[in-house]
Amino acid sequence: MLSNPAHMKNYPWGHERRFNAYSNYFKKHFGARVQKVSIDAGFTCPNRDGTKGTEGCTYCNNDAFNPSYCIPEKPVVQQIEEGIKFHQKRYRTATSYLAYFQAYSNTYAPLEKMKQLYEEALGYPGISGLIIGTRPDCVDVEKLDYIKELSEKCYIAVEYGIESCYNKTLRRVNRGHTVEEAWNALNATSSMGINTGAHFIFGLPGESVKEMLAEAEIISRMPLTTVKFHQLQIIKGTRMEDEFRRRPGDFHVFSWEEYLGFFINFLERLNPAIVVERFTGEAPPRLLVAANWGKKRTDQIVTLVEKSLEELDTWQGRLYIKHGSV
Ligand code: SF4
Repeated sequence: MLSNPAHMKNYPWGHERRFNAYSNYFKKHFGARVQKVSIDAGFTCPNRDGTKGTEGCTYCNNDAFNPSYCIPEKPVVQQIEEGIKFHQKRYRTATSYLAYFQAYSNTYAPLEKMKQLYEEALGYPGISGLIIGTRPDCVDVEKLDYIKELSEKCYIAVEYGIESCYNKTLRRVNRGHTVEEAWNALNATSSMGINTGAHFIFGLPGESVKEMLAEAEIISRMPLTTVKFHQLQIIKGTRMEDEFRRRPGDFHVFSWEEYLGFFINFLERLNPAIVVERFTGEAPPRLLVAANWGKKRTDQIVTLVEKSLEELDTWQGRLYIKHGSV
């Protein structure tokens, strides 16, 4: 357990916020605010194209997460140009941008194709690096060697959709990969000195709150630079919508109040060295079947979590216990 940092000027991550925040991490890294610009470069996914399956993860609906300027038919540079214009209206202080290859699995293509798309993005003025979203079963040594080369010149992170630390859950939601594959991909990426990210969902069917909380200890051992968490949002038109309507008792749908309490408990157990990018997901309410928390925006949620940490006088990693790595 960490000593009580109330007596310290800053927390272990070097600032006064009560969690290891992504925005501060980037300010420290780049010396300025950095904004991500999402790209749909037309990659697909082995869980949809027949390699692993055709039906995809049961909750998958990429339309819920793609900004309107992200259309794969548009060249990467056009998506970046439109994305930067969009963000300049909203975040006037951003001076530097990261191209976020977000939709589907952005390492699931021949290496030459990846090179062409990544380098097109990196050549755009103001782009300082790449965030590459992918699945743990879509990287290999050749691809990681190339990504490592890029990472020696600019900021690069490979962000893996892992979603759960339990194989029973991954099977249930038809992820088409295992927890072991996630560990292998993270270890391979991190050991090459490439920044790693991961995405997890709380509330997947068949998982208890106790099991979700226990993930804090498992995730804390993963070689992660950054992490994103989402509450499960059941999206209209997905296979999970059918499953939820048939067997609602199999799902733990968090209310906002319950999630806040759960997330604080989780954060207290999470390794303070891991940078936390998101606490929640924000699918458009019109697409939601369940877990509709109204119009709370991400920035409001961050404020509410920080207020709660303050009131409870707690912080990320307060109850973290370091175990030997796997
Ligand atoms: S891996 Fe991603 S894109 Fe592929 S089916 Fe699952 S959620 Fe959809």
